[in-house]
Amino acid sequence: MIVGLVGTAVVKFMVVNTAIMIFLAASSMIFAQDGNLQKNIMNESVVKSEEEWQGCLTSEEYSILREKGTEMAFTGKYYKHSEEGVYTCAGCGQELFSSDTKYDSGSGWPSFWQPISKEKVATEKDNSLFMQRTEILCSRCGGHLGHVFNDGPRPTGLRYCVNSISLDFELRKNETVSKQENDSK
Ligand SMILES: [Zn+2]
Repeated sequence: MIVGLVGTAVVKFMVVNTAIMIFLAASSMIFAQDGNLQKNIMNESVVKSEEEWQGCLTSEEYSILREKGTEMAFTGKYYKHSEEGVYTCAGCGQELFSSDTKYDSGSGWPSFWQPISKEKVATEKDNSLFMQRTEILCSRCGGHLGHVFNDGPRPTGLRYCVNSISLDFELRKNETVSKQENDSK
């Protein structure tokens, strides 16, 4: 009789314990999913397989954005480019740099003293080619942009040295608007 009671108590204890564990496991899974969901919404990450990237980029863009290549100095289409507007990522279209922060560094590559916002450009240590450099990448798609150096002009003292091939350009919209306004006067 006593053995029977103890046995029932043990079984009850185990059942309650198992139920609590299942509840905890289920709730932590829900929280984990929620967390991931929010993270994805905030970053709007663009994730593609290498095959998909090969399908939507030119071979030049692929070799620089996905294989971290470097275009020849002084050859890029945006090195001497001076129109006003926004430089976007050639991989995913995220806005990266404003023409307001572009300057001629003499390096042979388009150079900016700061990105449109810090969140748009990620950095990674790069110790390749026997140098210690800081690689810059598009924060949304992970595309390789170039490197950032400490020899830029004021106010930041930084030089974001970017491959033209990693960039697209959008002419400033308010320029078009003010032109239309002028035309209509
Ligand atoms: Zn991108």
